[in-house]
Amino acid sequence: MLKNRNAIITGSTSGIGRGIALKLAEKGARVMINGFGEQAEIEALLDELQKRSGQPALYSPADMTKPQEIEDMVRVAETEFGSVDILVNNAGIQFVSPVEEFPIDKWDAIIAVNLNSAFHTIRAALPDMKSRGQGRIVNVASAHSKAASPFKSAYVAAKHGVVGLTKTVALEVAELGITVNAISPGYVLTPLVAAQIPATAKTRGITEEEVKRDVLLAAQPTKRFIEVDDIAETVAYLCSDAAKGITGANISIDGGWTAK
Ligand code: NAD
Repeated sequence: MLKNRNAIITGSTSGIGRGIALKLAEKGARVMINGFGEQAEIEALLDELQKRSGQPALYSPADMTKPQEIEDMVRVAETEFGSVDILVNNAGIQFVSPVEEFPIDKWDAIIAVNLNSAFHTIRAALPDMKSRGQGRIVNVASAHSKAASPFKSAYVAAKHGVVGLTKTVALEVAELGITVNAISPGYVLTPLVAAQIPATAKTRGITEEEVKRDVLLAAQPTKRFIEVDDIAETVAYLCSDAAKGITGANISIDGGWTAK
């Protein structure tokens, strides 16, 4: 389904991005992964990607807070693969705090990774997509692109922002064979979510089990965490030819959270 397609997935050494990379490889794409992590784990993931796709896989250590590194990442993928057909902006970080105590460096980092990096990757990858009249951009937003939660001001602002970016770029390239969409997952039990459980417990003065039950899954009518594979399948579909009519959308995968 994605044979002869070349993909970059930012923040794909862990969690949702990792699942998306594996899925796109399974569908035949050449994949460049990105993110932080242990070298041995990254090499094992590259091996697995190559096994699934039967194609070479690449790793970029680009830091998504650094515009020049982001541009270099895109150029390396274009040079090594010949083109970038699929760009998945997935890298993301989180921090929870009441707004008046929100550390300024944490605010800046969240906006840089969760919002600005998507601008920088799109800016770098779009000219070649335009010249070839084909491309798929998927921005991993969040249910927090549609609804807020207390103590997540930077994350909610960034995720609302990335949907604005998605819609704007979708309109700019609508006639050029390029689609630009956002997906908005509810809670997935990845390292990002696991890491915020102790902080939320502390901020709210409740136990970690109570955070899972009464804070996280309270938002999700299905009362189940979303699975990485549910998200990866949706991204693979959006990257397929069959999804050519879907652009500028923000697709919820949130167990009914934002239906309320
Ligand atoms: P995760 O912590 O498991 O993975 C985050 C990835 O981003 C890692 O590969 C990490 O190395 C990378 N990363 C972080 N900072 C980076 C930087 N400066 N430069 C390059 N890479 C960087 O998180 P996850 O839960 O898989 O989240 C992935 C995306 O999904 C994020 O955008 C997140 O906001 C979004 N999301 C997650 C959930 C959830 O419940 N887990 C829900 C909705 C949306």
